[in-house]
Amino acid sequence: MPSPILHTTMGYVVYKIVEPDSSKSKFGKLGRIPVLLIISIVASMLPDLDSVFGILAGDFGRYHNNATHSLFVGLLVALLFAGGISVLFKTLPFRTIFLVTLLSYQAHIVFDYFTVSRGVMALWPFSHERFVSPISLFYGFHWSDGLFSIRHLWTFLTESVQALILVLVVNHLTSRNFRRGDLGNGSRIVKRSSEEL
Ligand SMILES: [Zn+2]
Repeated sequence: MPSPILHTTMGYVVYKIVEPDSSKSKFGKLGRIPVLLIISIVASMLPDLDSVFGILAGDFGRYHNNATHSLFVGLLVALLFAGGISVLFKTLPFRTIFLVTLLSYQAHIVFDYFTVSRGVMALWPFSHERFVSPISLFYGFHWSDGLFSIRHLWTFLTESVQALILVLVVNHLTSRNFRRGDLGNGSRIVKRSSEEL
């Protein structure tokens, strides 16, 4: 699995896609922090919650990357999350929280699928088969090496670059200028209505 660097970055990407104009957030803020961003980042890391049990039990492989990495569990978690939070915070609509949680959670599973690993049980409980991409996009964080390993340095370096690319791309695609059709040199794509022609 990738480290939290990439997973939380994907949470940010989902947040930006769902709510590109964060300065005009309709969904409430805790101080200056958008609530929806927190939900998105938490959801992006939720599948790895099972690693806590693995660390506590001293048997990481036994507990980690099992049922929580199922697309069906992601759907259930999104429904529960959206239901609970929309009741607690009236300003947060169920549909938006559901969408953000679902996308962030499932993105985690997809990223794990593309990582050097034993694969994810994406269809649990209907199947215990593990799925892993024949082409790995991510080197991943290898917990079996312990907390201190030279291999983690490579994970950190590669994921930092990948995370930076993701942030730059999503910030560009969701920027006001890009969405308005500005070309970046002061000119704009002119959309003429039929009345103007
Ligand atoms: Zn994971």
